[in-house]
Amino acid sequence: MNDKRLDLLRLILALAVVAGGAMVLMHRMRGGPDADGGQAAERGRTPYQLTWVSPDELQVHGRTMGPIPFKLILFPGEATVDQAERAAADSYAVLDRINRHMSAYLPDSDLSRLNEAPAGRAVTLDGELLALLEAAGDYTARTDGAFDPTARRLFQLWAAAGRTDRLPTDEQIAGALAMTGWRHLALDRPSGTAVKAIDTLQVDLGAIAKGYAVDQVIEAMRSAGMEAGLAEVGGEVRVFGPGPRDGAWLLGITDPFASADSGGRLAGTLAVTDRAVATSGNYYRFSVIGGRRYSHIIDPRTGRPADAVPSVTVIAGDCMTADVWATALSVLGPEGLTKIEAMDGVEAMMIIGRQGNAHVLQTPGFAAYLRGEIDLSAQ
Ligand code: AMP
Ligand code: MG
Repeated sequence: MNDKRLDLLRLILALAVVAGGAMVLMHRMRGGPDADGGQAAERGRTPYQLTWVSPDELQVHGRTMGPIPFKLILFPGEATVDQAERAAADSYAVLDRINRHMSAYLPDSDLSRLNEAPAGRAVTLDGELLALLEAAGDYTARTDGAFDPTARRLFQLWAAAGRTDRLPTDEQIAGALAMTGWRHLALDRPSGTAVKAIDTLQVDLGAIAKGYAVDQVIEAMRSAGMEAGLAEVGGEVRVFGPGPRDGAWLLGITDPFASADSGGRLAGTLAVTDRAVATSGNYYRFSVIGGRRYSHIIDPRTGRPADAVPSVTVIAGDCMTADVWATALSVLGPEGLTKIEAMDGVEAMMIIGRQGNAHVLQTPGFAAYLRGEIDLSAQ
């Protein structure tokens, strides 16, 4: 079964920020207890939690896109307490905006209206969503179909199989495959609309929206005058500006074979500046059907779960790129690494095989970000 709570726990631990300050509650250290003229009470109603962990570091925690945890770290530098807290509010507003337009789970989001629309009807969509759909279509081409958000019917089929503990039939898989593909969707930017060619086409942006949201949040923090910061949504991370460890940010890579009760043992630690890091894997979200584990990542070309790569980590200049390629490499396997090698500023590492018989493959530039080596000794 999909163990959602275990999912979340592991997700939080997955890219736990190794450096980032102790989780000590010291609210409003800079401004004193009443410096905000009563806005603290207002903040008590906000859907996120603000914590000054030191006079120079504001953290924000909450959930977005349903149950997905997010974490923001803001280093205001010369900016004031109020500017920092406004930057946090702006950042949350960005997440909220993206969720309202792009969630496949909120029934009245733009994306849900498209998913529910009949063939032939022009659905007016938010411009940001249309642009992201176009970008997603380009990524499907560049990943040879390994990344394809139009495969929502397949994702749903396998999720249902996990809930009922029954494998889908070949006919069901063929049926869902026939409902997959950008050829079933026409996007028209000038009119701001999209039209489906078949009633049953549905889109799920779960493998790109988190990274996209992280990029937009980083932009919001930067333009609000923060000196440095980190944004993480569901394990996808991006940092900017000088980090807390000798100017760098330390990010942990979870060992995909660590047992749930090991507290999220790390297989390695990355030291990065001005970079994004995304991880995909079959270890934190999966279904068990007939006693066997199946990844939540589906190969849209075969219609079956992509299980050969337990963990992929991608480092890129922006989080959307890292997010998409982490999922795509989970499907493509080792051959996909040659595509990464051809891209400037993008590096990847994959752990392939099964527990006890796994090994690590990485692009030549990945090691420069690693402190030490990838250690799977727990297997
Ligand atoms: P991630 O965990 O970031 O790799 O994203 C995985 C999520 O994206 C899944 O839960 C599905 O909603 C969706 N997904 C699964 N397989 C694919 C795929 N091959 N291409 C695009 N999205 C996918
Ligand atoms: Mg991802």
